[in-house]
Amino acid sequence: MFVGVDDTDSPRGMCTTYLMTKIIEETDLDLIGYPSLVRLNPNVPYCTRGNASLAIRLGKGRGRPIVIGSIGENPIISYPEGEESGNMEELLELGSTIVRRYMEHDSMTNPGIVVSRGMLPTELYDRAVKSFVELGDVEILLQQNSALYEKIGNGRGIIGAAAAISWPALRVTFELISYGFPFRENGKPLKEEISLSVHRMGTTFDSFDPENRRAAMFPSSRTPIIYGIRGSSPSDLIRTRESIPNRTLGEERYILYRTNQASDDHIIRDPESLKNGESYQVEGYLLDTPVPMEGGHYFAEIGTRNGNLKIAAFEPTKTFRASFRLLLPGDYVRVYGSYLDGSMHLEKFALLARGRSFIRTPPKCSRCGKRMKNRGYRDYRCTSCGARASSAEYTEEKRSINCGMYEVPTCARRHLSRPISLIGGGGDLF
Ligand code: ATP
Repeated sequence: MFVGVDDTDSPRGMCTTYLMTKIIEETDLDLIGYPSLVRLNPNVPYCTRGNASLAIRLGKGRGRPIVIGSIGENPIISYPEGEESGNMEELLELGSTIVRRYMEHDSMTNPGIVVSRGMLPTELYDRAVKSFVELGDVEILLQQNSALYEKIGNGRGIIGAAAAISWPALRVTFELISYGFPFRENGKPLKEEISLSVHRMGTTFDSFDPENRRAAMFPSSRTPIIYGIRGSSPSDLIRTRESIPNRTLGEERYILYRTNQASDDHIIRDPESLKNGESYQVEGYLLDTPVPMEGGHYFAEIGTRNGNLKIAAFEPTKTFRASFRLLLPGDYVRVYGSYLDGSMHLEKFALLARGRSFIRTPPKCSRCGKRMKNRGYRDYRCTSCGARASSAEYTEEKRSINCGMYEVPTCARRHLSRPISLIGGGGDLF
């Protein structure tokens, strides 16, 4: 049996991932597999932060269980397999009671709880991560699949809750989240020291932003989360956590989630046309040199097989702009980002082939070696010996950017965006 939950928090507090640990704490059923933390289209206007939705599978566990977290002194156990058990109505009742108890009461918070016997069609995930989904369409799909659901407020949360149950988990990473509740403030130097040591360890990513010296694993907003460490190996994350002074940080519980973070699942490849609020991968030639705009943003234009496209590196992408502005007309690039208000907001780009650019100067005199002077169209004269020449000298401009991938720093990276460090060997690129 699957339980999906979404839209329980607001900028003032709470976090749906924390609320899911409350459901796990209170159910009598066994947890099967890892709980899922599923990010959806980052451009939906009503998301509080990172458009996260949650799902778990419950039933009667089979196989050798593993510890994937703890609540106080009690371990959270997960079984590799399981079979059908439990009552759908009771599970919906439990989910709804916990959501009502812990949700933020805010006009922008519209929780949804979904209980389904099986996984929901993966097309729903595909649409919800890449595009926009209507509430009414999700209700029809849930009814067709005999799922139960509860809407609180306008109930928009059932979109994310259902999408989380339809995630096929093709590209998976993990996040270990540690919680202390109520919210606690901890010292900046300690956070920086911990993130830096996690950053240097094992297979984790996005824990520390070396370019901007930010302790990226610690959230900056009000939430019960103390930290989240991301990585591709669950056992590495458990080991990494053991090196952190969790008591000092006030940890009360932690849990390991399986996620679609760093999957690039939101990216639509080689589209015929672009829609506002969707994210794409597009190739084209630079048509002009990137120009700076007020506010520290940079814009350029590329020619693609479907017409010209404006691309942009915005101020919050910090050091990424330094690479972007080195592009020149003729460069062949593959850009990744969201199409919003007429331009692609870049998350990363691959410089696939460099355009060549030449500087034209009057030639050197073939008799005396002095640089000639330009007298008119195709007319060069040596001021020293009077010799004439009709063609200029062309020197190729030295480029300070090489072919390869360039990405925004950790502090500006979207949860879904795949870091270059995970792409591996450039194999996906060229
Ligand atoms: P947090 O990351 O802190 O959990 P959030 O950013 O996930 O918060 P929510 O409060 O969950 O934000 O709000 C997102 C809302 O958007 C939810 O109601 C969810 O159902 C809905 N939603 C998510 N993806 C889509 C989509 N593709 N189309 C339409 N609605 C969506």
